[in-house]
Amino acid sequence: MSAHKERIYLSPPHMSGREMQYIQEAFDTNWVAPLGPNVDGFEEAVASYTGVDHVAALSSGTAAIHLALIILGVEPGDEVIVSTFTFSATVNPIIYQGATPIFVDSEEDTWNMDPRLLEKAIEERMEMGTKPKAIIVVHLYGMPAKMDEITAIADRYEIPVIEDAAEALGSRYKGQAIGSLGKMAVFSFNGNKILNTSGGGVLLSKEEGLISRARFLATQARDQAIHYQHSQIGYNYRMSNILAGIGRGQMEVIEDRVRSKRENFSFYKERLGPRQGITFLEEPDASFYSNYWLSTILVDPEFTGITREKMQMALEAENIESRPLWKPMHMQPVFSSYPDYLNGTAQELFAKGLCLPSGSNLSDADRERVLRALLKTL
Ligand SMILES: *Cc1c(COP(=O)(O)O)cnc(C)c1O
Repeated sequence: MSAHKERIYLSPPHMSGREMQYIQEAFDTNWVAPLGPNVDGFEEAVASYTGVDHVAALSSGTAAIHLALIILGVEPGDEVIVSTFTFSATVNPIIYQGATPIFVDSEEDTWNMDPRLLEKAIEERMEMGTKPKAIIVVHLYGMPAKMDEITAIADRYEIPVIEDAAEALGSRYKGQAIGSLGKMAVFSFNGNKILNTSGGGVLLSKEEGLISRARFLATQARDQAIHYQHSQIGYNYRMSNILAGIGRGQMEVIEDRVRSKRENFSFYKERLGPRQGITFLEEPDASFYSNYWLSTILVDPEFTGITREKMQMALEAENIESRPLWKPMHMQPVFSSYPDYLNGTAQELFAKGLCLPSGSNLSDADRERVLRALLKTL
């Protein structure tokens, strides 16, 4: 039976229908190149949506994080504080720069960087003789981190904050767009993010100088000269004009996508809860507005009688995709030797957490099918 059921994906692409028009324009005018009118239009769309004036469209969110670190002068021997509860792409660019990641654990309400542990980490690193060069704060699953607390600490020690908002386009904190709260911020438009260009990212900042430097580095660091001249190492990190056309079509429907994601969350919350042993990642109070990129739950087998692995397998048997929460970076074989400041939260989230199907194109019937499959396991 279930073999005939169509697969329900975790967070599949969802086009607006306008993308082809922008791509067609690029073909018609032969702007099949990196840069071009779609890149400009896409950057303007992100700037006007977030209220952050300066935006560089890049080949990926990972490239955007890498450039942010380079621009802040992160070099071999430097330390960069970063959330342990994230995807590896947050951390890899720290290693590209030859720097050391210092992992900081989560707090229970937002699942994001614990401000108290952040302060402890900064103080201890400074006592040991190194002041961290930057802090990368992640807004995981679209939930804003406690930016007031985090930026107050960062400002006190004069350490710049990069927001990894790869998963949080459309989220807000105290009414302000996520992506507008640090020195620089990153969004991703990779395949399963809330909007997608098949692959891509942006770096944004209120400071024009930082973003013009990002553009320079992203186009092979070419000096002003009529011949090709280079006095610095460059990168080929710009977004193509074709993909930026997809981005323009996607940006037109960001509010619809946020609404659909939030409806998914409300559906699961109302129909699955309240129930002992199931907890949701939800906005702690009115300061937080999440895009609910993925609806996530913690499953406590003591009350539900089922582990999250078994629940995932049961959904899979019904051809429904779900996924464990991110495995914390300090538990990853490749990163386990780096310093960490832990309270056990991320490890517990990983042990119990599951991401439910959260596509913005999930139909009512799909949602009912997921719900039935979930209830069957409980
Ligand atoms: C997706 C993601 C990235 C990387 O973005 P890409 O565009 O895939 O390179 C970085 N950080 C987080 C938290 C992500 O989810």
